[in-house]
Amino acid sequence: MTDQAYGNLQYPDVLLHIAGEWRQARGGRTSPILNPTTEEVIGHFAHAGTQDLDEALAAAEKGFAQWSGISAFERSKIMRVAAGLLRERVRHIANWMTLEQGKPFAEAQAETLAGADLIEWFAEEARRTYGRVIPARAGSVRQLVLKEPVGPIAAFAPWNFPINQVVRKVSAALAAGCSIIVKGPEETPASPAELIRCFVDAGVPAGVVNLVYGTSREISPYLISHPVIKKISFTGSTPVGKQLAALAGTHMKRATMELGGHAPVMILKDADIERAASVMAFSKFRNAGQVCVSPTRFLVEESVYDEFVSTFADAARKVKVGSGLEDGVTMGPLANARRMDAVEDLVQDAVQHGAELVTGGKRIGNKGFFFEPTVLSRVSQDARAMNEEPFGPVALMVPMGSIDEIIVEANRLSYGLASYAFTRSAASAAKLSDNVAAGMLSINHLGLALPEVPFGGINDSGYGTEGGADALESYLNTKFVSHLQAD
Ligand code: NAD
Repeated sequence: MTDQAYGNLQYPDVLLHIAGEWRQARGGRTSPILNPTTEEVIGHFAHAGTQDLDEALAAAEKGFAQWSGISAFERSKIMRVAAGLLRERVRHIANWMTLEQGKPFAEAQAETLAGADLIEWFAEEARRTYGRVIPARAGSVRQLVLKEPVGPIAAFAPWNFPINQVVRKVSAALAAGCSIIVKGPEETPASPAELIRCFVDAGVPAGVVNLVYGTSREISPYLISHPVIKKISFTGSTPVGKQLAALAGTHMKRATMELGGHAPVMILKDADIERAASVMAFSKFRNAGQVCVSPTRFLVEESVYDEFVSTFADAARKVKVGSGLEDGVTMGPLANARRMDAVEDLVQDAVQHGAELVTGGKRIGNKGFFFEPTVLSRVSQDARAMNEEPFGPVALMVPMGSIDEIIVEANRLSYGLASYAFTRSAASAAKLSDNVAAGMLSINHLGLALPEVPFGGINDSGYGTEGGADALESYLNTKFVSHLQAD
């Protein structure tokens, strides 16, 4: 999109941003963008080639030299301006996000505004990148721990949260004093491009923030192995994460990996069942279940199982599915045809393995990637959906004998991202907190993903965190200086 066109609410053709310039790919290549609600082409994005990547790398190297020399106080001020611009521009950005990704407008708006909060939090945190003084063994020695930005970053972001996944990476990098090349999500490119525009318009110098789109499997090895890049951050699936982490390891690059999950929801018999069902149904069908922390395996104590399943299924039946731009719609389409095929297969497989289909289970209509909010009961552990991330609007219910059985099932998979529990017992809450193998546990409410708290997983869900002070730390090197003072 050109600067003159800014403010035009028509869905734009999306450009690269390299060395301070919005432009087409040098080779002139573009690729189409589909609206998942209509399956129609709504625009095109500039498809970067090697020359574009080389220019982005050179820009990021220069940008780093400049940005790392600007005080944290000044960086923080520029970032706060960007947050303000994002808030001002929320309407058209959310509109474009709904067109390209499908989520309801209200969710797109909330994601965009949450992005502004996140930028502000990191802007503040930029001013607190403290080092330390360590008392020395000899009086004439001064021992300092200094924090320095790691250097130019390559960030890879997916399509499910087009702003949220990019803003976390860009904000932490800029706060630390790093430059960044974002490989944005090709299926949802316009809204993250507008986020980058906010940073550019706020006064982030040319070359500090660069944005490219193209062919993932070509761009990622090129950037990760390039000597200019000092750290990578990837959000996406576990198989791709493992490949990129291996490549990062080969080149000894630091990496943050935010990968898939298969969140257990542990419902104990003393829980407030009504509340648990309504909070979890809201969370399950948000973004049509295409969320890495989406609640997925519902492990419910036998004595409250039927009550929980029927209350949850009632809530599922009330979800209004449709175009995200229509009033009252609470769930849009799946984001692409791949998800439709994957979700259909997983549901069929679960039913073949003996699961009872309580509600939903099939595609809606034949235009747009709409799928019914689905509840499956008494799902066998052998069903694929109990082992692979469904990444769709599918809730899997399983009756369980005791809290101990629940913990064993919660920890059975190699994933370890989010987990949820509902109980009125402080002792049970403590037991779950101590024994559930996950990066995050939220008890009796939805308490994840605020800017100031850690956000990340363990085991196959990846490593590192994208929230809170720890997120900033991962963009900083620690340098130790021991100084014997001259006579
Ligand atoms: P996928 O594995 O093909 O891609 C996942 C994401 O990684 C996409 O954004 C894609 O553009 C990107 N990607 C793929 N290959 C890449 C590469 N070589 N280098 C850099 N980026 C690459 O799967 P998909 O069909 O797009 O998404 C479905 C699966 O992805 C889901 O099952 C889910 O597990 C996972 N996913 C996770 C998140 C998350 O928030 N952790 C987000 C989106 C997708």
